[in-house]
Amino acid sequence: MEKDKKLSRREMLSLSSAGAATLVGAALVGKAEAKPGNKAGDAALPQVPRRVLGKTGQTIPILLFGGAVGLDPRFDPKLAEAMRFGVNYIDAADCYGGGTCETSVASFLKRTKMRDDVWITSKSDRHDPSGFKRTLATSLRKLRTNRIDMYYLHALQDADRLSKDMERTVAQLKKEGKIRFFGFSCHHGNVAELVQRASELPWIDSVMFRYNFRKYGDKELNKAMDAAHKSGVGLIAMKTQGSEYSFRDAWRKFQKNSKWTKHQAVLKAVWDDKRITAAVSAMDTLGKLRQNIAAAVDKSKLSAAEYQSLERYAADTRAMACDGCDHICNPKVDAPVQIGDTMRYLMYHDVYGEPDKAKTLFRSLPQVAQNLSSVDFRAAEAACPHGIKIAENMARAAKLFIA
Ligand code: SF4
Repeated sequence: MEKDKKLSRREMLSLSSAGAATLVGAALVGKAEAKPGNKAGDAALPQVPRRVLGKTGQTIPILLFGGAVGLDPRFDPKLAEAMRFGVNYIDAADCYGGGTCETSVASFLKRTKMRDDVWITSKSDRHDPSGFKRTLATSLRKLRTNRIDMYYLHALQDADRLSKDMERTVAQLKKEGKIRFFGFSCHHGNVAELVQRASELPWIDSVMFRYNFRKYGDKELNKAMDAAHKSGVGLIAMKTQGSEYSFRDAWRKFQKNSKWTKHQAVLKAVWDDKRITAAVSAMDTLGKLRQNIAAAVDKSKLSAAEYQSLERYAADTRAMACDGCDHICNPKVDAPVQIGDTMRYLMYHDVYGEPDKAKTLFRSLPQVAQNLSSVDFRAAEAACPHGIKIAENMARAAKLFIA
């Protein structure tokens, strides 16, 4: 996340709890929504608003704690702080944190005795019914719980995985009380197709999908979102920052015209869309967490000028934002490279500040996909709808991840 120069609203929440209670309560919103008996939520602090997650009928905060950040395995203070403001939803996955995310969440919940007050979502990288069940069993063990609130197929690409067999498996797991709800996450090039498919399958409770300010004009995706929303599929946005690297000049231009940081503004823009229940955000520092909370508890909407500024920002940075649609570019290359994945790892390196994770993920690709030298990317570049400089980025990936 960028170093912010503006301090007013976002830094109010970085004050001591007493100070925050007074200042934020007065300046932003005052009424806590923490329920009696619910340990999550400090009644003295403004609470992040909540919305109903589609057909689940459950209310969740509009800001969700993304567990893809490193969590302290003994007791994570970021989670504790999130809970105080009503962010009692943790988005985990079997693979996050190199497989340590779920055990860290378990440690936190054991210490705080908050299992019944916290919504846990986790995900399986295995998309076949028996693999899915095995991963779930591992997740339950690592989380030290007997039920997971939402269990997703993680990073789904193949719509055929939403099969009758999977439907039966999900029904059985729900009956056994091991999962309350089911869905999938998706962020590759066929997000619209998958969201549309979810709208047609009554057993899909929720979808977490790549959605951000760059997608407002995407007719196919908007049509799919309308259908999913109408059929009660709870929609959760991820990748709300719209991928970026070396956008600093564009940031500065954006922030000149807004009281919000770009990071806060793009979240507010997502929350403005009432089809979306919540946005998940990887908040790896208390500063980021407090900035996001400040944006969430402030009920004002982005102004027309701020929206225009965001649109300009999107246009200015379009040629730097990979959309993961590698069904377009990969086939244009006469080599088994994985451009979309490699671009994503560059994002982890450049934007998320996770160079080790980026390198590890890249090195887990098949050896042939790591061989980026002597590959001609010109046809792929010509096909890319965003005009991404693919060759330049692949050369950078080779330098960063292989050398
Ligand atoms: S490089 Fe372009 S075509 Fe390839 S995945 Fe990214 S945006 Fe899509």
